[in-house]
Amino acid sequence: MLQPMQLSARPAEQAGRPTVLVVEDEAALLTLLRYNLEKQGFRVEEAADGQEALLRVAEARPDLVLLDWMLPSLSGIEVCRQLRRRPATRDLPIIMVTARTEDQDAVRALDLGADDYITKPFIMEALMARIRALLRRAASVTSKGRLEYRDLVMDQDAHRVTRNGRALHLGPTEYRLLEFFLQHPGRVFSREQLLDGVWGRDIHVESRTVDVHIRRLRKAVNGDTEQDLIRTVRSAGYALDAEDS
Ligand code: CA
Repeated sequence: MLQPMQLSARPAEQAGRPTVLVVEDEAALLTLLRYNLEKQGFRVEEAADGQEALLRVAEARPDLVLLDWMLPSLSGIEVCRQLRRRPATRDLPIIMVTARTEDQDAVRALDLGADDYITKPFIMEALMARIRALLRRAASVTSKGRLEYRDLVMDQDAHRVTRNGRALHLGPTEYRLLEFFLQHPGRVFSREQLLDGVWGRDIHVESRTVDVHIRRLRKAVNGDTEQDLIRTVRSAGYALDAEDS
């Protein structure tokens, strides 16, 4: 199963291949992940503990981090927190891998800035689908145009969102969620519709995940004294819609 590393690959051949940093202290799982990711066409970087993960992110500039929760030296949660605190990695897509089955932990991972999570033991194909879906969401921000709703402006060329001139910092999932809302302002979407539209149909995400990202989007969009632009429609879903409109 061990694949020899492609040390001879030239940078030109690597261009366009997304890099995934796998942070995992279980050597056997790391090997399995590398094998499967490379088979999918990804470049793979590795780190075996939390400190090393932070160094590898700075050096290798990965397109996505697959981050184990339980790690030596610095926990995955702490790595995630530190990455989110740094401007250069604030939007870096992160999938948290947790051995814990408690729902609270998964939600906590999302609250601390992870874009997605998967629980061990996982089915490899399900993880690959999530990685592809998250990278698609991150890449979709390169589409062209400008979307507006009230004092909210999304410049899709610059991948920049402002509210009343103030720059907003959104993770890739929140950006895509807001983009989706901005394409249909005022319209109410169910959690299922948001999952289909933002995450894609090919992966299974629990509808609770939508609530977590909506909460994060709200926090990013609404300043202390600003009006909440996201309306919760009881037992229906969400809309980009100011209450008084
Ligand atoms: Ca571990």
